[in-house]
Parts: sequence; C-alpha cells; structure tokens
Amino acid sequence: GDKRALLRSSVREFLDFPSPGICFRDITPILKDPTAFSAAIDLFESYLRDHFPKIDLIAGLDSRGFLFGPALAQRFGIGFVLIRKKGKLPGPTECVSYSLEYGKAEIEIQVDAVDPGQKVVIIDDLLATGGTMAAACELLKRRNADIVACLVVIELSPLKGAEKLKSYPVHALLQYD
Ligand code: 5GP
Repeated sequence: GDKRALLRSSVREFLDFPSPGICFRDITPILKDPTAFSAAIDLFESYLRDHFPKIDLIAGLDSRGFLFGPALAQRFGIGFVLIRKKGKLPGPTECVSYSLEYGKAEIEIQVDAVDPGQKVVIIDDLLATGGTMAAACELLKRRNADIVACLVVIELSPLKGAEKLKSYPVHALLQYD
C-alpha cells in the first residue's frame, strides 16, 4: 500500500559501509520524515492488532530498535524495555553471547525488566543473519517471557534470518533481495 511505498522510498543504500562489500540500508530518512515514521508505526500496530489479542511489553534491540519501540508501545498503552550491548545497563542483568561473522557479541537485559509469563514483542530496525534477534529471543526465554513476535522494518531475505527464529513469528515491513 501507500504506507509501504513511502517507507521503501525512505530507505537509502550506502555501498561499502561499514566495510568494503557491504550494502548498508540506512533507515534515518524514515525518522526525519514524520509521515514516514507514522507509517512505520501504523503498519507495526495493525500487524499486532490483527494477530495478537494481548501484548504486555515491547523489547527493543540496541540501538535502532530503540527508535521504533517506544512509539509502538505508546499505541498499546504498554511499556518498553531495552536489550543492550553488554556493559551499558546498571544493576543485575541476564546476558547471552552469540557469534558474529568475526568473533562474538553479548547482549543483556535488566532482570527486573520482564516478569515471567509476560507477553513480549521484540523490535529492531533490520534482520540480516538473524543472529541478533535469535540471541534476544534466547535472552527473553531465559527470563521466562512469552515471546509473541519479532518485528523489523527491513528483512534482508536472502540471508534467511527468519529461519533462525523458526518457533517465533517474524514480521518485516519491507523485504530486500
Ligand atoms: P543480524 O544479527 O541479523 O545479522 O544483524 C542485524 C543487526 O545488525 C541489527 O541490529 C541491525 O541494526 C544491524 N544491521 C546489519 N546490517 C544493517 C544494515 O544494512 N542497516 C541497518 N540499519 N542495520 C543493520
């Protein structure tokens, strides 16, 4: 529809960023245009309303998940919590490590962010290999959250990230080849 077309026209490509051979999808124009940003939040909201009757919490991934998650949570009158790269959150945290193409990464959540059994939606800007989203699912599962769905603005389809999340519904507003 119109909203998806507006969103697609608001994503830019930068070749060789952050390293040679990579085509980086830049979502910053979505945030710069309030109509495009509303379109993104509208599309996320209607997907969730159509599929899931009850959601308790939105969890955003460091760092661009933080841009979309709070606005979406406000639409449902629910809270937003942060899943951050290791070392950024104070107090007791639960941590998971996951492997990257070169080396490994760790993400964590404050242990009081989610109560056992809460219905949580995870959000990020982009799904590539799915490693980050799979780690977030593992983290929330360890806190006994009930993961409802994983949302992203962009899915890089050939990387088959959604297959890493086989037990959880994944919804992307835009797919790129
Ligand atoms: P994955 O773990 O699925 O391989 O990578 C996804 C993570 O890397 C997301 O947190 C996302 O923000 C970041 N990422 C990887 N490539 C891109 C890209 O081309 N554009 C943007 N905006 N983020 C990317």
